[in-house]
Amino acid sequence: METKKTLRRISLRSFDQFDLSPDMMRALERAGYERPSPVQAGLIPLALDDQDVVGQARTGTGKTASFVIPILERLDEATTPLSPQALVLVPTRELALQVHAEFEKLAHGSPFRSVAVFGGAPFRAQQTKLQQGIHVVVGTPGRVIDHLQRGTMRTEAVWCVVLDEADRMLDIGFRPAIEKILKRCPTDRQTLLLSATVPDEVRMIARRYMYRPILVNLSPYQVAADTIDQYYFSIPRNRKRSLLLKLLEREQPSQAIVFCRTKIQTQRIYRFLLDQGVPGVGCINGDMAQSARTSMMSAFRSGKVKLLVATDVVGRGIDVSGISHIINFDIPELCDDYVHRVGRTGRMGKEGVAYTFVEPDQGEFLTSIEMRIDKLLKRDEIDLPDMGHVPDPHDFKGGPAIEAPADKPAPPPKPDARRKRYRSAL
Ligand code: AMP
Repeated sequence: METKKTLRRISLRSFDQFDLSPDMMRALERAGYERPSPVQAGLIPLALDDQDVVGQARTGTGKTASFVIPILERLDEATTPLSPQALVLVPTRELALQVHAEFEKLAHGSPFRSVAVFGGAPFRAQQTKLQQGIHVVVGTPGRVIDHLQRGTMRTEAVWCVVLDEADRMLDIGFRPAIEKILKRCPTDRQTLLLSATVPDEVRMIARRYMYRPILVNLSPYQVAADTIDQYYFSIPRNRKRSLLLKLLEREQPSQAIVFCRTKIQTQRIYRFLLDQGVPGVGCINGDMAQSARTSMMSAFRSGKVKLLVATDVVGRGIDVSGISHIINFDIPELCDDYVHRVGRTGRMGKEGVAYTFVEPDQGEFLTSIEMRIDKLLKRDEIDLPDMGHVPDPHDFKGGPAIEAPADKPAPPPKPDARRKRYRSAL
C-alpha cells in the first residue's frame, strides 16, 4: 500500500481549494462547516481524483463528510430504478442513519437522493425508495445482501463503494457479506475504506478489493483526543452504583453516556437510575426493536435524554456533539473499545471528560488501555460512606495480569475472544 504525505500540501483554511460546485458550497455554509477538518483536507482531494484510499480516521473527526462531499460532487443526476451509483457500507443501523443524514444535509439544494437500508426496519419502504431511483445507498452489509438477493437492488451502476468503520464491520463478523457485495460491484469502481485502526484483516480486504490504495493516516498515535480529560476510580464492584450516583451529583453532566459491558447490565443500571429518581435517563442496546432505538437516539440528540446507558456496539457510532461526559461503568476489556467510547466526547475539538470505574483486580485492563493511548489515566476519588482504603488497581499482583515488559507493548487480545464478546454485546 502506498503512503502519501498529503498532509504537508493541504490547507485547512477553506473549502474553496477543492473547487466544489456552488450547490455544495452553499450546503456547507448552511451546515455551518467553515473550513475542512484535517481528515477532510486529506481525503477529499484524493477521492475527487478517483483514487482508492484507506483512510485511518476515527469518528468525531468529520470523516463522514470526507467521503460524502466527493461522492455528491461526482454523482450523475439521472437515476435508474434499483441501481444506485454509490454504496456506503456501515456496521450499525445508527451509523447508517447518521451517514444518511449527512448525505441529506450536504445534498441540500441538489437533486441527489439517498436511502438508508438496515435490518429491523420494514423492507418494503426501502424497496419502494430503491424502485423510485436513488443515487446513494447507505446500509448495513446484511440488509444490502438481502436486497441484492431479492433483486430489489442492483450494483451495475455503482462507481464508488465506501467501507466505513471497516475494522468494526470485520470485528462483528461482516467479512463474508462485505466480500460478497464487493465481488458483485463493477471492478473499475472506486473504493474508499475508513477505519480507526488498520489491522491485518483490513489490509487483506484492501489488498484484495482495492486498486493501488493510498494509505492516509489521519489518526495521531495519541488516539484519544487531547481535549479529553481521562480519569479512573478504583472501586469495588458492589460500590459502583453508589459511585455512579455521587459522580453524577458532583459533575452534573450536560449529556453523558454510561457504558456497560452487556445488554443485561445496561437494563439493570437503567432501572437503578430510574429508581433513584435520576431525570432524563435512557437506555439503548441491541435487544431493542429498531424503532425504539431510533427514537431513543433522537431523544438523546434533541437533549430530552441526558444520560444514555449503552453497550459498546450500539454506543460506538453515536455522534452527538453535546456529550460532556463518558462514564465507563464497566471497564472495556478491549483497548479499542475504550478509544471508541471515549471518542464519543470531545468531538470536533470540544472539551470532554471520561471516567472509568476500575475494580481493584482489573489493573490489567487499565494498564493495557494506558499503553494503547500512551497516556496515564489520572486517579480520582469520591468519598462514599463506609468505604475504607481501596487498593490501586495498578498494584494488583494476582490473577492473569497481562505481563508487559517496559519495552514491549501488551499482547493484543485473541481474535476469537474479540469476536465472541462483540456478538454477545450486540
Ligand atoms: P464524523 O466524524 O463524521 O462523525 O463528524 C463529527 C461531527 O462533525 C458531525 O456532527 C459533523 O456534522 C461535524 N462536522 C463535519 N465536518 C465539519 C466541518 N468541516 N466543520 C464543522 N463541523 C463538521
